[in-house]
Amino acid sequence: MNEHINKHSIFYFVVLLLLPFLAFSQNENKSKFDKIVIDAGHGGNKPGAIGSKYKEKDIALSVSIKLGKLINENLKGVKVYYTRVIDQDIDLYKRSTVANKINADLFLSIHCNSSTNKSASGTETYAMGLGKTENNLEVAKKENAEILTESNSIENYQGFDLNSPEGDILLSLYQNAYLQSSLDFAAKIQNQYSKNVPMKNRGVHQANFVVLWKASMPAVLTEIGFISNTKEEEYLGSEYGQWTIASCIFRAICEYRNKIDGLNDPIPEISKLIPEEVKEQEKIRQQNLLIAQQQKESIEKERKELAEQKAQQEYIQNKEAANKAMNGKDLVYRVQFLSSPTQLSLSDKKFTGLEDVFSYNEKGSWKYTAGLFASQKEALDYQKRVKETYADAFVVAFYKGKRVSIVEAKRLESTTN
Ligand SMILES: [Zn+2]
Repeated sequence: MNEHINKHSIFYFVVLLLLPFLAFSQNENKSKFDKIVIDAGHGGNKPGAIGSKYKEKDIALSVSIKLGKLINENLKGVKVYYTRVIDQDIDLYKRSTVANKINADLFLSIHCNSSTNKSASGTETYAMGLGKTENNLEVAKKENAEILTESNSIENYQGFDLNSPEGDILLSLYQNAYLQSSLDFAAKIQNQYSKNVPMKNRGVHQANFVVLWKASMPAVLTEIGFISNTKEEEYLGSEYGQWTIASCIFRAICEYRNKIDGLNDPIPEISKLIPEEVKEQEKIRQQNLLIAQQQKESIEKERKELAEQKAQQEYIQNKEAANKAMNGKDLVYRVQFLSSPTQLSLSDKKFTGLEDVFSYNEKGSWKYTAGLFASQKEALDYQKRVKETYADAFVVAFYKGKRVSIVEAKRLESTTN
């Protein structure tokens, strides 16, 4: 009997000892973060921003699908849900409704930025909140504009008015519970972009986006670059660009999941996430770009050399002609009107209408003169004409082909006479 009790006690004691481990290992196996909703912005008859080659809705969808693929292949235990996988029009409010229904852990909406300023560039990521700057308000207004074309918009958005401050405040009352996590995730995305994407980091912001409005989980909207900027549109439209952006977001998701689930799972490098054939294509593209650049440079160099040769030839011919014209006179006057760091061709437009254009080099700078006179008085008369085009024109003197000062010229005149 005694022995029997002892056996039981030992059994319970062992179970008690093991309990925390059993509980722990169960937690280990069951990650808390296991559902993500990827929302490709726009779709169907709502193309979003339109670039010169691509539409926002298509780029957003391509990046979304790539991101989903990366999660499915590399993040076991996390299930991906899409708001759309085809070119389809979905009302903004329905997008987060889907996420709420399945009790998702994260909602991510993917978009492209656009601006009438063609040089506007960079990536930025938003969480829900009152837009504090003109830019934030503009971006939200553009992305929200879709609801104006949705049916029953009054009912679905509680009469939300895009342009009223009341509408803005009403929207910002939602979502506050998840603001910190949303901002944290947004920062992780921007951090990845800034390290791996050749675009400016425009940072993390807050604005009221209808698509994030009622999401009852951390939710962000990421603008992956400007479709209105030629260089960025090219990148956003390329397979390599899309895979890089998807890989950045994927890494941010891994970091975020590690943090909230207290994990330390390794996160694959970007280069490991981009498919081999895409990297290969990009390598070939870069090589071709380099070759094209080198060709362009060598053509430009050749053109410059030819132009210099031509200018030099003209310079010699012009000098000979000038000497001949002066009939062996040692002292001549000209009107100087231009100075240039590079040698110009005498057929340059700058010399139109001028006579006897002549150039000489002084201390590495090319000086240009017009007219050829035996006396300073004649040169001064001509100077008036040159001044109509070149206000700073002035008379210069040459003795035996060498530039001399006017004082020196006067002295030479008086001694030779
Ligand atoms: Zn958009």
